[in-house]
Order: sequence, then C-alpha cells, then structure tokens
Amino acid sequence: MPSSTIIVIGAGVTGLTTAVLLQQHHPTHPITIIAAETPSTPSPTADYASQWAGAHYRPIHPLTTPQLRFEHELTMHTASTMRRIARENPEAGVAETPALEYFANTPKEILELKTGDVYAWPGDGFRVLGKTELPAEAEWGCEYQAYCVNVSVYTRWLMDRFIANGGKFIQHRLSSASDAFEFARQNNLGRPHVVVNCSGRNFDADPKTKIIRGQTVLVKQQYHRTITWQHADGTWAFLIPRPLNGGTIVGGTKEIDDWEASPRAETREKLLKRSVESFPDFVAKVEDFVVLKDNVGRRPWREGGYRFGIERLGSEKTVVHGYGAGGRGYECSWGAAREIAGLVKQVLGTQAKL
Ligand SMILES: Cc1cc2nc3c(=O)[nH]c(=O)nc-3n(C[C@H](O)[C@H](O)[C@H](O)COP(=O)(O)OP(=O)(O)OC[C@H]3O[C@@H](n4cnc5c(N)ncnc54)[C@H](O)[C@@H]3O)c2cc1C
Repeated sequence: MPSSTIIVIGAGVTGLTTAVLLQQHHPTHPITIIAAETPSTPSPTADYASQWAGAHYRPIHPLTTPQLRFEHELTMHTASTMRRIARENPEAGVAETPALEYFANTPKEILELKTGDVYAWPGDGFRVLGKTELPAEAEWGCEYQAYCVNVSVYTRWLMDRFIANGGKFIQHRLSSASDAFEFARQNNLGRPHVVVNCSGRNFDADPKTKIIRGQTVLVKQQYHRTITWQHADGTWAFLIPRPLNGGTIVGGTKEIDDWEASPRAETREKLLKRSVESFPDFVAKVEDFVVLKDNVGRRPWREGGYRFGIERLGSEKTVVHGYGAGGRGYECSWGAAREIAGLVKQVLGTQAKL
C-alpha cells in the first residue's frame, strides 16, 4: 500500500487539467482521480458540465471588476497552453479558429476598443469591423483569432494522458470532500497528503453556488469560425465548430436555477430558427439542419467566481478547493489548474516542514 497520495475529486475539465499539471509538478507522488462521472461514462448526466460545453474561447471585455480581471489572467494563460496543444497535439481536439462577434447594444467600454488591441491574446489580429461589414441590426462587431474545443475528444485526451503518466482513476460518488479521506483508507490508496476538490459545485454544500442550465444543438454541418451575436433583448446566438469535423454547436441558453435535465423541443426550434436568422451563411433553412444531438448541461456557477482555497478539516485532513467555473471552465482551465497546483504546493511544503 502506498504511504501517501494526492486525491483529485472530479474528472471535468478542471479536475483533469489539474491532475495532469500536478503530475508534472510532483512526478513522484501517486495521484488518483475519484469521480462520479468520467469521460468514459456512456450517457453523462446534465451535472457533468464538461461534456455539454460548446466550447469556445470568447474573451469577456471590458475588465471592469476584480473578478473579470482575474479571470482574464486565467484565460490568457490558458490560451497560450491551448494554442500549444493545438499545434503539437492536433488529435487532442483543440484548434485555433477565427472568431466574429456582433453586438446590438454595445457597452460604452466596448465601443472604446480599437483595432490592434489585445482581445484574446497578444497578436490575435483583433479588428473592429467597419459599419458596412455589420449586419443590419448590429451596432458593433469585431474579429480576432480564438480557439475551439471538441469537448468529448479533449477530455478523453486529458484522461488518457493522466493514465499514461501513471495516474489512477476510480469511478465513485463521494458524499463530501471529507469522505475522500475515508474512501482512500478503505481502498488502500494510501494516506492522502491532500484532497483537491474539483467537483464543480462542492457537493451543493456552498450557498454561493447556483446552476445555470444551458441547452444547445449539435448539428452535422461544419462552420468555419466561431461567431456570437449579443441581441438587443439580452439573449445571444452562437455557433461553435467542433475541431476534427465534430459538427457545429448551435446555441444557446442561460437559464438560472432551471434544473430541467431533458432538452425542450421548443428551445431546439428557437435556437435553429435564430441561427438561420442570425447566420444566413451557415444553414439557410431550419429543415436543412442535420441534428445529431440536443445538449443540456448545468453550468456550475458561483457568486464571485471560482473558489480557490485551502481548508483544514483536522490535523490530517487538508482540502484544496478549485470549483465554481461557471460558463468559462474550458477557457480558464489551465489558469485555474495553475492556481490550484500552487495551493497544493503550499500544503505539501507545510507538511514537509512538520
Ligand atoms: C451549454 C454549455 C455551454 C458551455 N460553453 C462553454 C464554452 O464555450 N467555453 C467554456 O470555457 N465553458 C463553457 N461551458 C462551461 C463549462 O462546461 C464548465 O465551466 C466546466 O465544464 C466546468 O468544469 P468542472 O470540471 O469544474 O465541472 P464538471 O465538468 O461539472 O465536473 C465535475 C466533476 O466532479 C465529479 N463529481 C461531482 N460530484 C461528485 C461526487 N459527489 N463524487 C464524486 N465526483 C463528483 C463529476 O462526476 C465530474 O467528474 C459551457 C457549459 C454549458 C452547460
């Protein structure tokens, strides 16, 4: 039986990325992921957000709050890693993709952006569109380079990498983060140095967490860029092409505290109709769409953003929290993993001194 181990709870994009990064930082420590659902789960539930994301990188500007500025740092770090993965490992399901955005009601600070500003990353080719390039109802638009992720391929790739580097995977539902210590003892995993909680919503025990339901449609037709329309009524329409010819995501909804796990037929109809109206160069008629799948996921949103922190549950039980990614779990993933790994290093450093 190994004498000590690091346990990561969760096999969403946050847990997988963190586990892979921890393997790089602590090559001699055994690391085990314990997760209720994994990238191999055949029919994931709506609670496993990472299997239902688009996913594209759409920077949020202006950076008016400390939370947005912090998340901006996470996204910039993530973008440089994702671009390297796209170049070096095209099989991972990440690809650099041209991006276009239109706004009907443009925030004042967005209107101040200029061609050549850094939007997604330095050298992203950011350009403000001229009035003649905008569709009729759009007030403002821009183009730049971003990246898109084929989420089932990418999470599987992270999982395979983790296992190839000696990581252990156990599919199991825990009752709490604290339960992981007892589980490790009963299953001869060794005494956990630290349990890393990447469970998305912290077992619903954090009053600051809420779910935001998202419904999208995966269609067979392949678009060549990611595009987002922020309409005047506050709703949005987007297309996200999935790399490796994975089709295109037509989206999407943001329904706070709506726990309906099944797709709504009327929502599918609305999304496809809105795509035809907003993006006429993609698919011209609703009947022409080849629908592969309806997606429903629960974004693990948290007031104030991610919880990154160390919690001592007793002299021998330390939990590092890294959950609450909301709607940005992919685009923040490598930055979030870096934050979490920094806390794990702090915990291991303290233990080494005891
Ligand atoms: C429709 C939609 C579109 C989206 N689009 C984008 C996008 O374009 N870009 C982007 O960056 N993000 C997007 N997101 C958000 C993104 O999906 C989430 O932010 C991200 O997946 C959160 O990842 P996570 O690993 O923190 O949580 P999750 O993916 O929810 O993973 C949680 C993990 O913890 C495990 N777990 C939970 N409870 C327990 C328990 N009791 N015991 C053991 N294990 C447990 C789960 O089984 C799972 O393995 C979108 C989400 C939706 C729904």
